[in-house]
Amino acid sequence: MLIEPAFFIGHGSPMNALEHNALVQQWQSLTQGRKPKAILMISAHWYTKGTAVTAMPAPRTIHDFYGFPEELHQVQYPAPGSPELAAEIKSLLAPHQVVLDLSWGLDHGAWSVLMHMFPDANIPVVQLSLDQHLAPAEHLQLAKKLAPLRQQGVMIVGSGNVVHNLRMLDWQSTRPPLWAEQFNQQIKEFLLTKNFDAIAQYQYSGEAARLAVPHPDHFLPLLYVLGSMLEGDEISLFNDEILYGALAMLSVQLRNKTPD
Ligand code: ZN
Repeated sequence: MLIEPAFFIGHGSPMNALEHNALVQQWQSLTQGRKPKAILMISAHWYTKGTAVTAMPAPRTIHDFYGFPEELHQVQYPAPGSPELAAEIKSLLAPHQVVLDLSWGLDHGAWSVLMHMFPDANIPVVQLSLDQHLAPAEHLQLAKKLAPLRQQGVMIVGSGNVVHNLRMLDWQSTRPPLWAEQFNQQIKEFLLTKNFDAIAQYQYSGEAARLAVPHPDHFLPLLYVLGSMLEGDEISLFNDEILYGALAMLSVQLRNKTPD
């Protein structure tokens, strides 16, 4: 069985679902021609008390945003679910408790990205929620238990943003503020030196971190991708752009060197 890559995607605005810009083209080109058995999605937009995994056979498309055009509300991403994969994730994460969820579905953090990566929506997708009670380092530990899924043909995709501060957005921004650049740069250095424990301690890195990550939901999906690192993986970065002064699109690929 081929080892599937893992991706962290900086998703930015939900409007990226309908765009054809250079950022989304990159999402598309990195997955073109791949056909994983299933996709495990960890989206910033499912932040819960306790951990849950979607276990329904046909997840609905959730339009979890306001103030966007009707066209975006019409989008459907009818990928099947996988109750079998949900059950396997539950057992892999034990003794950490995981609820088999039948009410969520695919939120826009998932489908706005998957529409570009897998436009045919024919690969089963399961979403895993982010337990708000866990510290970042605990998320990283939990994620390590998911790594074997990649060896079974499951692609792991985290969707969030390394820098995400909607209150600091500046539509006129031509150059990001120092704090955004500093934090983005620091995370890139830790990524390229594979110092993932330092990334899971981001909250202790001062004022830049406080401004870049005012809430952990968009940052935590990155830790699930890093936790899934396998021996023989190469790490590469793409879409390293900070939009509107406060939204880092920085994305990460883990690809195994084992020939496939
Ligand atoms: Zn988001």
